[in-house]
Amino acid sequence: MSLEVPNADRLNKYNSIILPKFFEIHKFSRLYSLEPIGVGTPYTESLSSYLIRLAQEHCVTPKKLIMGEIAPSILGDRYKSEMLSKNVSTIFGNSDAKPTINCMRDMTRSLTQALESLTLRQDLRYLSCLTWKGIIKERGLFRQHKAWCPQCFEQWRQENKPIYEPLIWSFKDISYCSEHNCQLVDRCPHCESQLKAISDRSVIGFCSRCKNWLGSQSELILNQNESDLTNIRGIENLIVVVPSLNYQPTLSDVMRKLQLIHFCFERVVNHDLTQFIVLGKIMEQLKITFTQHYNKPLNLINLLIPVCNLTKISISQLFRENSPTLSQIVLNKLKLNYKFKNHLI
Ligand SMILES: [Zn+2]
Ligand SMILES: [Zn+2]
Repeated sequence: MSLEVPNADRLNKYNSIILPKFFEIHKFSRLYSLEPIGVGTPYTESLSSYLIRLAQEHCVTPKKLIMGEIAPSILGDRYKSEMLSKNVSTIFGNSDAKPTINCMRDMTRSLTQALESLTLRQDLRYLSCLTWKGIIKERGLFRQHKAWCPQCFEQWRQENKPIYEPLIWSFKDISYCSEHNCQLVDRCPHCESQLKAISDRSVIGFCSRCKNWLGSQSELILNQNESDLTNIRGIENLIVVVPSLNYQPTLSDVMRKLQLIHFCFERVVNHDLTQFIVLGKIMEQLKITFTQHYNKPLNLINLLIPVCNLTKISISQLFRENSPTLSQIVLNKLKLNYKFKNHLI
């Protein structure tokens, strides 16, 4: 596949590395160094959305970009030119083209590495959940098909902003948009199709089957329940914290911090769990995790988010703070938020 040669206007979209040597050498990226949207915010763009927008920037279909430019980079010697005529599921597999491409799979890593090397960008690793591989349990966490907020699409179109799909919409436990208080939609309102995250001719904001616009202005306001809100806050926090981490977290780091939280809890309640039913229950669950599932990735929705919520710390604090600071924060928060009769603090 040959991509169009950039003209001078578009040249600044390419990343260049300038070496302070005898003379300057500009190394241009093979693909446009398109900036991902919202990195460091709860509305960080997803990897699948970035890939489709990148194809749009090059005026080609996702199929052409993937099979012509990305597949050779991922497959190396195993790449054959006949692949140009195949569809994207040849490279991603049927399941990988679904929103799970934005999670923690081996293909997610291969795709991220290929895109980072072709665009010379270092921030595409934040567009999926790769950071949490081996730490957070992947099973059941992600949707099997796309979901979107029609009002976000419509608002961005009216405000002339780039249309994209945030990573947070890939999570199964995110059922509504906290920006518009409306339910996410997971079927095309025109043809009822469920949509894959990436298909041969995907265009962001449009149905890949019937090609209709997926945005709309609905006035329907939902009553948010507390547990949905807690999950949204937890997942938003998980997405926001990644670019600010200056280390790669590991399961044993997180386990040590959870043990510390449990220790703080035991210290303040003086081993009497009976008066803190909900908090006590989740702490019991933590104890079971330490003893029976020590080497297994942790459940985000049923364990990490409730532990942080009940001990009044954020997911960001859990991952970002070092152990002494975290234990001080947890002790103070427990003291402030719970009334202890026989406390030791
Ligand atoms: Zn919205
Ligand atoms: Zn449709």
